[in-house]
Amino acid sequence: MGARDLLDALGDAGMSVAAEGDRLVIRPGSKLTDELRAALREVKPELLALLRGAPDLRQPGPAAAACTVDDAARQRYVARLLRLHWPKADAEAFAGRLVERDRSGDERVSCFECRHYWPGNCANFRWAGLGERIVSSELAGLLQRCSGFAPFQPK
Ligand code: SF4
Repeated sequence: MGARDLLDALGDAGMSVAAEGDRLVIRPGSKLTDELRAALREVKPELLALLRGAPDLRQPGPAAAACTVDDAARQRYVARLLRLHWPKADAEAFAGRLVERDRSGDERVSCFECRHYWPGNCANFRWAGLGERIVSSELAGLLQRCSGFAPFQPK
């Protein structure tokens, strides 16, 4: 698994990754499996280089660390949206909005973060209060509070 794939896998599993000096900081570390630890060891230099690719990383300190986390999160969101066949420009714009949401503490969610969503459809539409399973791209791209939401977890 390459560094970018590993970053995506960690993000999909609910973990954040940041570079602090020569260290990789994974939160929450309690979610790391032995397999993921081994994969991290294998690609550590590549992953550090990838995380340091954020422009603000030229400035050391807490602001740089925050930028790293934001950039890693943005990349994970873009990757997830692209897997769900979102156009690249839309995926990048919405990923930026989601990073802002995370920063602000806004608790609303989007369909694309939900395990019940696949392109154009909601498998949990009754619990979501929808009359049918069809979910338009406009609805999927809204931040909302949904009673049917369950976070996406990769198998
Ligand atoms: S359960 Fe709610 S958040 Fe999940 S896909 Fe359906 S409408 Fe979207």
